[in-house]
Amino acid sequence: MNFIHKPLTRTTNSAALFDAARQVIPGGVNSTARAQWSGWMPYPLFVDNGNGSRLQDVDGNQYVDYLLGLGPMILGHRPSGVTRAVVDFIERRGTIFALPTAEEAVLAEKIIAAVPSVDQVRLCNTGTEAVLYATRLARAFTRRRKVIRFEGMYHGFSDGVYWSKHPALAKAGPDDRPNPVAQGPGMPEGVEENLIILPWNDADILADVIGREGDEIAAVLTEPVMCNTGCILPKPGFLETMRTLTQERGIVLIFDEVITGFRLGLGGAQERFGIRPDLTVFAKGLGGGFPVAALGGHADIMKLVADGTVSMAGTYTANGIAVAAANAALDELARPGTYDRLDRISDILREGLEAELRAAGLPVNVVGIGPLMQVWFAERPIENYRDAERHADQGLFRLWWEGMLERGVLFHPGAYENLFVSTAHTAEDIVLTLRAARDTAVALAR
Ligand code: PLP
Repeated sequence: MNFIHKPLTRTTNSAALFDAARQVIPGGVNSTARAQWSGWMPYPLFVDNGNGSRLQDVDGNQYVDYLLGLGPMILGHRPSGVTRAVVDFIERRGTIFALPTAEEAVLAEKIIAAVPSVDQVRLCNTGTEAVLYATRLARAFTRRRKVIRFEGMYHGFSDGVYWSKHPALAKAGPDDRPNPVAQGPGMPEGVEENLIILPWNDADILADVIGREGDEIAAVLTEPVMCNTGCILPKPGFLETMRTLTQERGIVLIFDEVITGFRLGLGGAQERFGIRPDLTVFAKGLGGGFPVAALGGHADIMKLVADGTVSMAGTYTANGIAVAAANAALDELARPGTYDRLDRISDILREGLEAELRAAGLPVNVVGIGPLMQVWFAERPIENYRDAERHADQGLFRLWWEGMLERGVLFHPGAYENLFVSTAHTAEDIVLTLRAARDTAVALAR
């Protein structure tokens, strides 16, 4: 296994840029997910450009890219339709007017047509904002304060929801009722009193808590597929039970489809699983790489935005670039056969990765759905965050990541992130990836 620490040896320009950047940018990067302590050791790669399914770093190394900007680049890098639409809008129309444009309703109609649970939709800039508004709206609608969310998920960095996972499980309380664990000492005290953290995938615990505390609970906030502790699928019936329990007690069900939206199909995870939440948050899949997010839902809840009960504001919301990009991205995704092809190529990748790793005798499950997956190095299935902490081999994942990077395949070094596949990935990309997987697996098994 002599390739440990070797992968970054051909990246001297990245190293130099990182050294310069850390003098003026805390940690040298502009997001936690790019920080050294998120796995980018000894430093993150600095990017020169992306093109379709490929990414090139500043040292000229080429990678097949499954990081895909952590999800937004579902059409690959520089998708021509989106790029053209944005450039055209800027050149002919402008960027921000603090007044509406006709294209905003056009986009809203496309989202509503794609996602049956959405009667009306408001735009914002990021998933964090959209989640913040969703929980605020749910509280205003129900006149209740508490929100249930699940251990190991991520719903953005706003104070109200940035409480979840702690690797020192002893600090995080019992398995069936985890303590809210603040991201850090900067979080305001008292917020956690309105948060209930539960283990994902346990319908009995959810039923028990809603049974006892339902009258105080405004919302259940969940990703329909857990995508922020690797990839964990909902157990059969779990989402259905969640829908029934929330409906019975007048609790707003919020699906955070920031990752799954427009990725598991034009109608997102809710279309795949046949569940209709009350509110849905969209972001990454929506904008073809440009910053745009949306909150959509039932008209009776959204009317609280219309009448000003809940204010959704923002200088940059629905700016011309975001709307042009999203309109073009959705047109592209809505082309017949897009998701069938995306699923087919992703299934080949997922099955191929599992086959190569298993053939080398490694304990592995490659879990995913559609163009979203993660490799779990574990002897048993992972059903929630604590399973992952207790049973997944993070050290082996790190070696796997290094081996793949060395062989020209890029994804996030964190085992709790995902591999994303884009419409630009080709059969050749998959062949190259599986060859890299075979060689890496053989080296790991030695
Ligand atoms: N919700 C989920 C499920 C996410 O994965 C993320 C980001 O990764 C967010 C919300 C926050 O979105 P943003 O980074 O656009 O604020």
